[in-house]
Amino acid sequence: MATRTADILVIGGGVIGLSIARRLAREGLTVTLLERDVCGRAASWAAAGVLAPPNAHRKDAAAILHLRSLAMYPRFCEELTEETGIDPQYEPCGELEVAFDERGLESLRSDMIAAGDRRSADGRPAFEIHDVAETRRIEPLVTPQAIGSMECRETAQVRNPRLLASLCAACDKVGVQICEQSPVEHFLVDGSRVKGVRTRDGDVPGGTVVLCAGAWSSQIGQALQKLMPVRPVRGQMLLMKLDRRPFRRVISRGKTYLVPRQDGHVLLGATEEADAGFVIRNTPKGIASLIEKGLRLVPSLADAPLVATWAGLRPGTPDDLPYIGGVPGFEGLIAATGHFRSGLSFAPLTAELVFDEIAKRPYDLDLASIRPGRFG
Ligand SMILES: Cc1cc2nc3c(=O)[nH]c(=O)nc-3n(C[C@H](O)[C@H](O)[C@H](O)COP(=O)(O)OP(=O)(O)OC[C@H]3O[C@@H](n4cnc5c(N)ncnc54)[C@H](O)[C@@H]3O)c2cc1C
Repeated sequence: MATRTADILVIGGGVIGLSIARRLAREGLTVTLLERDVCGRAASWAAAGVLAPPNAHRKDAAAILHLRSLAMYPRFCEELTEETGIDPQYEPCGELEVAFDERGLESLRSDMIAAGDRRSADGRPAFEIHDVAETRRIEPLVTPQAIGSMECRETAQVRNPRLLASLCAACDKVGVQICEQSPVEHFLVDGSRVKGVRTRDGDVPGGTVVLCAGAWSSQIGQALQKLMPVRPVRGQMLLMKLDRRPFRRVISRGKTYLVPRQDGHVLLGATEEADAGFVIRNTPKGIASLIEKGLRLVPSLADAPLVATWAGLRPGTPDDLPYIGGVPGFEGLIAATGHFRSGLSFAPLTAELVFDEIAKRPYDLDLASIRPGRFG
């Protein structure tokens, strides 16, 4: 591997690392991205591509950042399409959260009230409660067992494998040196200053190192396991293919969702398994529970052709919030990881925040709740 000396070394070629590498290279910085395997094949590929707002009761800084990132998405995807010709197929499809009992509907109502007078891009209320008749009028395949639903007009989707292909091509165009099959083993440290990384093939110097290794992030430096713990949380997914798109919106209840793609594919996700370690595989139990919950929402999918199953590891943190910013005690090391269930949603803003950190630009929010080192 012939790597040049770069201003920036990015560790990890998922949606976070690629978005950051592209953003920084567009500013004229020389960027080298080191990927253990191949880019865009880990959690970012396994994800469902749903771009959903945070729970409406949350008013904290991370929730505001999440909303800002979602607002950046249409432009982010337009730019990527212009730069590469690969359209990530961003689509503001909306979502229907289904309720099966009064308690469920009451909880949705409370979410709607918490959202206040938020509006979606087309000016309509961001959240609206529907009775069962209206629910089935707008999405006739929703089960008649539902008693109502909440429509969330802020939810969008993106074809994440296309987004990743587009990001890789954009990085290439803007001069990012991408080194695949280059696992980073540890940081090169001089006192408290991180001066580069050691890979299987040798040392790579760099001015600033940006850590975006997803679920594996705190495996790289031992001290990071205490400072900013990241643990893998497995998610299993299942894919069906119909002749044409069966419904327009994402249909969900709790952590189960059905995502209709334009070409008739329907994704059903996802399990949330914090005890599976780094094992990436499907299990009969995981798939059975997905099928049971998915068919409860849309029973007519029972005969749909099942075309694939897969799994991925979300980068989980103790408070489910990411780590974005300089790592205390490690001068020259910036973390951008731990995005758990929302890494796709957070990617454009994460790239902005990392650029701000490098350019030492102040941000208009207190970012303490997403800073690495908040656990001591
Ligand atoms: C089933 C499932 C469904 C999901 N659905 C959604 C969704 O609908 N919407 C949403 O916003 N989010 C979703 N997520 C979460 C989202 O996928 C993650 O938050 C996001 O992909 C994290 O991106 P990342 O770049 O940090 O990690 P990854 O995509 O995992 O990338 C990390 C990269 O780092 C590399 N790496 C690791 N160690 C090293 C090393 N030592 N040296 C070099 N490279 C290394 C890995 O090989 C990998 O390529 C889902 C996740 C799963 C698993």
